[in-house]
Amino acid sequence: MIKFLDLRKVNNRFRKEMGERIAHILDKGWYLQGEENEKFAQHFAEYCGAKYAWGVANGLDALRLIIKASGLGAGDEIIVPANTYIATILAISDNGCTPVLVEPDINTYTIDPDLIEEAITPRTKAIMVVHLYGQAVPMEKIWAIAEKHHLKVFEDAAQGHGALYQNKRTGNLSDAAAFSFYPGKNLGALGDAGAVVSNDKDLIDRIKALANYGSDRKYHHIYKGLNSRLDEIQAAVLDVKLPHLDEDNARRREIARHYREHITNPRIILPQAYDEQAHVWHVFVVRTQERGRFQQYLADNDIQTLIHYPTPPHHQEAYREWAQHSYPITEEIHRTVLSLPISPVMTDDEVQRVEQIVNAWK
Ligand SMILES: *Cc1c(COP(=O)(O)O)cnc(C)c1O
Repeated sequence: MIKFLDLRKVNNRFRKEMGERIAHILDKGWYLQGEENEKFAQHFAEYCGAKYAWGVANGLDALRLIIKASGLGAGDEIIVPANTYIATILAISDNGCTPVLVEPDINTYTIDPDLIEEAITPRTKAIMVVHLYGQAVPMEKIWAIAEKHHLKVFEDAAQGHGALYQNKRTGNLSDAAAFSFYPGKNLGALGDAGAVVSNDKDLIDRIKALANYGSDRKYHHIYKGLNSRLDEIQAAVLDVKLPHLDEDNARRREIARHYREHITNPRIILPQAYDEQAHVWHVFVVRTQERGRFQQYLADNDIQTLIHYPTPPHHQEAYREWAQHSYPITEEIHRTVLSLPISPVMTDDEVQRVEQIVNAWK
């Protein structure tokens, strides 16, 4: 059986070092807002090439906190790709803002910059790009639109740890970026975890306070905040794994290159990278008109696959107010995508087996 993602194998590589760091935390008896958080935040900001980072409870909270700390709320519109994972949109709604959906580019699956300007209204305050599937959004046009219309730009980088655009990493391509370290992400914790990255010190300071009951010092509350802190244990685990992220991403690129060279079945549409360094292949998404039959065939041949994602946000019950809206490119993507196994612990034999089985599909 070729698993979609063997998390046990991913994390067992670091078992010894993680164990030592967790033992150290037990020895100290300090579990929140301590030196592990400080250390990881500094290392992660450095990794992204940005000035500041701060750990929070999960990726959704990182997104929520960026919007909240930027002072956006009821009546403000935020532009977001229509085919994103629902969390991006939930973070906007949760702040009382209105998500304005824009179709993606069918080749890159990231927001189509040529459709952004027609979605801008006097209430538009920000563009939230999503480095979906692991590909950094080409930012040039987005920066230009944002400057012209005085909009903020945010990144949902939950799938794009380490991806590069013009030699800059995600997290350093906008006013603020949200990362998730959900276990299955390219950098994953042993539970929920997230971070905000920004070059804006005031914004990061507000987020630190907001994530800790709006408190800048104990029992002193300057904002109506929430509790969204990163555990010391998760910060330590992430700090152990971070130095290996680039080699893990390199292995993902190698597998993706191999798939793209060796999968030749004409029924399968392969993913494209506009630049090798831009993509960190969080998932390897192919498309086919007969997705259901293809997925069943792969399962019958012991290959696990997933669908990212089966239902577009505008067809979710939570957003029933959009039920009549039509986003044909997004709908086509959701109807046809299938994610093949890819991970840094996949063996060459497994990669070749996937290729053989996929090519033999009729
Ligand atoms: C995983 C993910 C999130 C949410 O992260 P959590 O840590 O699960 O809250 C947000 N956006 C995208 C694109 C994601 O893939």
